Amino acid sequence: MTGRPISAATRLFAVLGDPVAHSLSPALHGAALAARRLDAVYLALRCGDREAVGLVRGLALAGGGGNVTVPHKRRAAEAVDRRTGAVERTGACNTFWSDDGAVWGDNTDVAGFRGAVTALLPEGVAGARVLLLGAGGAARAALAGLLDDGVREVAILNRSVDRARELIRGMGAEGSATALDGEGALSGEDFDLVVQATSLGLHPSDPLPTSLDRCGGVGAALDLVYGREPTRWVRAARERGVPAADGREMLLLQAAAAFRRWFGDPVPMAEMRAALNERDG
Ligand code: NAP
Repeated sequence: MTGRPISAATRLFAVLGDPVAHSLSPALHGAALAARRLDAVYLALRCGDREAVGLVRGLALAGGGGNVTVPHKRRAAEAVDRRTGAVERTGACNTFWSDDGAVWGDNTDVAGFRGAVTALLPEGVAGARVLLLGAGGAARAALAGLLDDGVREVAILNRSVDRARELIRGMGAEGSATALDGEGALSGEDFDLVVQATSLGLHPSDPLPTSLDRCGGVGAALDLVYGREPTRWVRAARERGVPAADGREMLLLQAAAAFRRWFGDPVPMAEMRAALNERDG
């Protein structure tokens, strides 16, 4: 879908990743471009990391821009000339464009995560105690968002504890985050929020990253993974009576923040949300 008929002035935007065929970004941004009647197209391009670097710079300097997804977010952070604070802190870039001859990068996953937390927990996480499952790119964005919002304490549980330690060290979060040495460390602990940021849950046969039964009281649960149906982890939380949401709100809000970087306000949220609900999974 394009905002207007393609012309010699049409700007090219794309999501770069591998794999990328499952991405919902073209549907979300296509709906937003059409709603604003902008002269731009948004495509999904599967590419290797060397090509991703060239595409980030080439698309941006040709007057377009785009998004970057797994596994190229780190390479993209190195490829841009100017980095927002979110890119500096996470070492990952998911949104790029150019301004005044310089290629800019942002990591709108951080803003998307913060918005998704607010939708689930309107009182926010200031002073809260949070359990974060995972230590990859999504967990990195989540930790940055939690720190921005004044979280009191974050316990990180990851399959490889060394990666959790490295995440904490890399983000200078030693004052408020600790790495848990295995599930046993949970034993009855209370958390205001549990964030599922591993890649488990994309496939129906995936195991749960851990059981909430290992915790004591849990205020709310947020899964960063999403699918057509509520994820297994979201269902497990709800069965325990814990309010839970999957990653669709974060996806929508990171896309909205990226669109704002490229085209400014207004962001056609209703159209983007409708496209997500039509195409989710
Ligand atoms: P990543 O960097 O590859 O990290 C994967 C994480 O999952 C690591 O913590 C890894 O643990 C853990 N993991 C993988 N397989 C596991 C297994 N069999 N058992 C236990 N742990 C396992 O991936 P990512 O970029 O963080 O993405 C994670 C998920 O978040 C993806 O599904 C992605 O779609 C989702 N996400 C959603 C949004 C959104 O907008 N909703 C945005 C970004 C990402 P190890 O460190 O031990 O390998």
